[in-house]
Amino acid sequence: MQELQLIDAHCHLNFNAYKEDADEVISRSLEQGIGMFVVGSQSTTSARAVDYAARYDGVWAIVGLHPIHLFEQEVDEAEVEFRSRRERFDPGHYRTLAERPEVVGIGECGLDYHHRPSRIDEGLFRSRQEETFRAQIELSLELGLPLMIHCREAHEEVLRVLEDYRRRGQVLRGDVHCFSGTRDIAARYLDLGFHISFTGNLTYKPRVIEGGNGETLQDVARQVPLERLLVETDAPYLAPVPHRGERNEPAFVRHIAEKIAEIKGLTYEEVARQTMLNTRRLFGV
Ligand SMILES: [Zn+2]
Ligand SMILES: [Zn+2]
Repeated sequence: MQELQLIDAHCHLNFNAYKEDADEVISRSLEQGIGMFVVGSQSTTSARAVDYAARYDGVWAIVGLHPIHLFEQEVDEAEVEFRSRRERFDPGHYRTLAERPEVVGIGECGLDYHHRPSRIDEGLFRSRQEETFRAQIELSLELGLPLMIHCREAHEEVLRVLEDYRRRGQVLRGDVHCFSGTRDIAARYLDLGFHISFTGNLTYKPRVIEGGNGETLQDVARQVPLERLLVETDAPYLAPVPHRGERNEPAFVRHIAEKIAEIKGLTYEEVARQTMLNTRRLFGV
């Protein structure tokens, strides 16, 4: 393996999209000096993330239960359709996984009000998500591991939960991944001490963010201090330009770092060096 230049802070090589060639994809990234965090979304993919991390230097695992796996539902993502299963968060099970030395964080966990199962009571839908999110925050506090937070159309509610912990004097750390919120929302996560990461959507045509003051995602990235930024692919989803529409992979994370450099008027090397340092510090790798 080459010395690492970048770490893709969030990818899913543990998903079926890589069933045939995950090892090739990992090797291709490591040969280019790109390490990665393989992120679990339920118990099966969390276990698989740990397996990959155990086999490769430069690959680490994050384990947790994604909010879309709490109820059975059809999920139609850009490239991958799947039926999510119903899982209840079992702290003992995830604690055992998370105690493995290859595991550097808890997640992805959070709230997702975008994907909605049919025939589920709205109150139950929300309360189950929040209680599962809180259980993973508790585990992260217990083990001293940072959080990998997923949020879709629920920033106010995620912030309410995080601010609640702060009020009680509990210090949480972590990354809010695939960020697509407004400038104000970003500022509130930063104020709580969180890092923010962007995916390939940062390389797409700028669009005004809903609920903001006319700012685009690129404007938000310009505002987030480089010291608080991480880069990620969220592969297999959201491949950056010039690979848009293809299956994404960690090696493409370079394009996110290049885009951040362009937006901030810095060199690629400056962005690579600082985001690497941020990722290493936050996750202790
Ligand atoms: Zn996510
Ligand atoms: Zn993800």
